[in-house]
Formats: sequence, C-alpha cells, structure tokens
Amino acid sequence: MAYQQNLVCFNTFAADEPWSLATYEEHDGYQTWRKVLAGKLSPEKIIEEIKDSGLRGRGGAGFPTGLKWSFMPRDADIQKYLVCNSDESEPGTCHDREILRYNPHSLIEGMAIASYAMGVTVAYNYIRGEFLDEPVPRFEAALEEAYAAGLLGKNIQSSGIDFDLYTFVGAGAYICGEETALLESLEGKQGRPRFKPPFPANFGLYGKPTTINNTQSLASVPTIMRKGAAWFAALGPEGSGGTALFSVSGHVEKPGNYELPMGIPFKDLLDDICGGVLGGRQLKAVIPGGSSCRVLPAEIIMNCTMDYNSLQQAGSSFGTGAVVVMDETTCMVNMLRRIARFYMAESCGQCTPCREGTGWLYRMLTRITEGRGEVADLDKLVDVANKIEGHTICALGDAAAWPVQSFLQHFHHEFEYMIHNSGRSIVADAIEAAA
Ligand code: SF4
Repeated sequence: MAYQQNLVCFNTFAADEPWSLATYEEHDGYQTWRKVLAGKLSPEKIIEEIKDSGLRGRGGAGFPTGLKWSFMPRDADIQKYLVCNSDESEPGTCHDREILRYNPHSLIEGMAIASYAMGVTVAYNYIRGEFLDEPVPRFEAALEEAYAAGLLGKNIQSSGIDFDLYTFVGAGAYICGEETALLESLEGKQGRPRFKPPFPANFGLYGKPTTINNTQSLASVPTIMRKGAAWFAALGPEGSGGTALFSVSGHVEKPGNYELPMGIPFKDLLDDICGGVLGGRQLKAVIPGGSSCRVLPAEIIMNCTMDYNSLQQAGSSFGTGAVVVMDETTCMVNMLRRIARFYMAESCGQCTPCREGTGWLYRMLTRITEGRGEVADLDKLVDVANKIEGHTICALGDAAAWPVQSFLQHFHHEFEYMIHNSGRSIVADAIEAAA
C-alpha cells in the first residue's frame, strides 16, 4: 500500500516559501478563521468538531484535544489563556520545530480558532530556547504578517473578536515541556512543575483558567475544521484519528520527519518510508515515541501499528511519535546509560525519588559499563526505577524509570554479559569474533 504523506501539518511543504502567508492562503489557509470572524462558526460547533475528529494531544500524553478544550470554564468575564507548548525537547523528537519553520501560519490559525472556541483573548507560544536560529524568527515573521493582514488584534475586522498572540522563548530546560513548569517559566519564575490539582484549566497562567496544547495538535486544527472531523478521523484507526508527524532517527537509511496516517504498520514505516535498516543490518529494537517510552524488541515492534492502542498493548506508548531505531550493532547497556544520564541532568530536583533516584540509576549503569558492576546491581536498578515510578510530582520520574525497566526486561542478558566480562559489550565481542 502506498501511504499519502503531508496531508495536514506539512501541507504547504512542496511550495516555494511554504512559511509565507501567501503560500498558506493559496493552500486554503485562514478559511476557517475568516468564517469565525464572519460569525459563521460557534465555539460549541468547533469543540464538537475537534472532539469528533479524534485528535489527541501529540505532545506525548495523547489526551483528547476537544475534551481538554471543553474543560475550560464558560464564564465570559474571566480572563483565560491558551498556551502552545513549543518547548520540544524529548530526545528523538524534532517535528514541532519544523512546523514553526515551514508552516507557522497553520499554528497561528489553529491557536486563533482554539482561543475563540474557549473564549480566550490572549495566547502565548512558548518556544524552546535553543530554537533561536530559524524556528523563532520564522514564527515571529509569520505573526507580523498575520497582524499586518488584519487577522489578529482587537475587534478583528469589526467582528467584535479580540485575539492577541505573543511569542515567549524559554531558556532551554527539558522540564519546561511539562505544562505546569512551562507556566511557571512563562510567569518569569524557575521552571519547576506544580502540584496538581489544581489543574491549569482552573488555575493556570497567573492563576487564571489556561489550556496548554502541543504545537502539532494546534497546527492540525485548521485542516480538521476545513476538511471535517469525519475526514480526519477516517485517516487513522479507531481511537487514533488523523495523521501524525513521525520523527524517525537512528539506524535507518532515510531518517527524517514524515507526516503519515496514524496506524501505519511499523514495518511499512521502516521499509517503505525510511528505506529499511541502515546498511541492510538486522533490526534489534525501537523506542517508538521518544526516549521516555518503553523500548520494544524487533519481534514485538514488527507486529505493531503506529497508534495509541497498538503500542500500548505491546507494552509501550505512542508518545511524541519520535521513533528511535536501533540495529544489531547497538549496545543496549550503553544506550540505557546515555538515556539515564539525560534524565539525571534534566531533573529539576524538587522531589527526592527523582532527584536522588535518577543519579543512582546513572551511577549504577556507569559502574556496569566500567567493569565494576555486580549481578545484584540489576535487581537494584529495577528496584530503584520502581520506587521512582508513580512517586514524583511530574512525569519526568516515570520517564526515567520506564527505559530502565524495559531495557532490563527485554535485554537482561546484555547487562549480565557485561558484568561477567569486565565491562565488555556482548555486541562489540560478537562483531570482533565475526571479523
Ligand atoms: Fe522535578 Fe523530577 Fe520531581 Fe518532576 S519528578 S518535579 S523533574 S524532581
């Protein structure tokens, strides 16, 4: 089967200057927003349409977007906010920055429509601090174009609708991708997650009702509204409507960002879209949704489709759609050590299991790779991971625990081999023996 690409978020990609307002409008951009300004679409209709489309948050949690919007209080007198989370930092994930670079108007229109649906008049796009080269200037330029064209501002085109959108550039902390840490950072404070409840829909930015959505989720909204919820939902299997942007990295012939229907079989994504495993080698394992998802060995992932239900049933999750492919030459012990180092470095230090536990995990794994490990360390690693999981303020703790649990579940023998062989990798020894 041939898969259609670039249907929703990347629909302007083939054009010259896909980021410009002119290109976006040539691709039917701002049609829905103009309908809103003309008084032809009610907030209720928009929320129903997004609910029916099956769109789920693409930032990792997969929460239904329309349902999230419906949680916002209806009271017209309260100041409410929409915040777009463009703090894309999950290792392996690199698609939101491409929306900012190549189709920023889809995000601006999506934010305008979402804000109108929730009674929001002020919105922020929180962009990762490292995106200062192209994504931030492109988004800012698009924002200026939209204001100059009279599409944003106060009493827009005499519609009685106010909508102002601001860019906020973070300082480059992974934890600010967590929605409440992001709000703290946006308020000018240190980006540390808040205790929940209260949830942002009731107590968000400056203590006001706030919805936080991911870049890709919001950028999908204009196309959904234009082509209809049924069209979008039918692109994917039940429970996973539409397309998703897959960031495929690692040992494949053609790594990159691909917009494809949800539910594409993994083997088709690997072979038809990405040209197969690099150098024709054997597939060993895949992290299907960014570094915080559980790893799946080849024999499991090859029977999965890339959607929420299939990956959950296989023991992992869809996450951010960041597919990290590892071939037979990958040492899983060293891979896990690198992941553990990341979470240790990015822990905000607020809660003990995460602050201390992530360090213990990294130091135990380092001991093993340096040939000083003991067999008892393997149970200790799982024990520490289990004590972190579910015992922290935010999901970074779980994100640190799940790789440890799953790498040891599926590749225990590689860890044992390294311990029994003074820190030598089973993979390196096999390659040496075959040479
Ligand atoms: Fe901070 Fe980690 Fe606790 Fe999250 S889980 S609040 S990152 S210490």
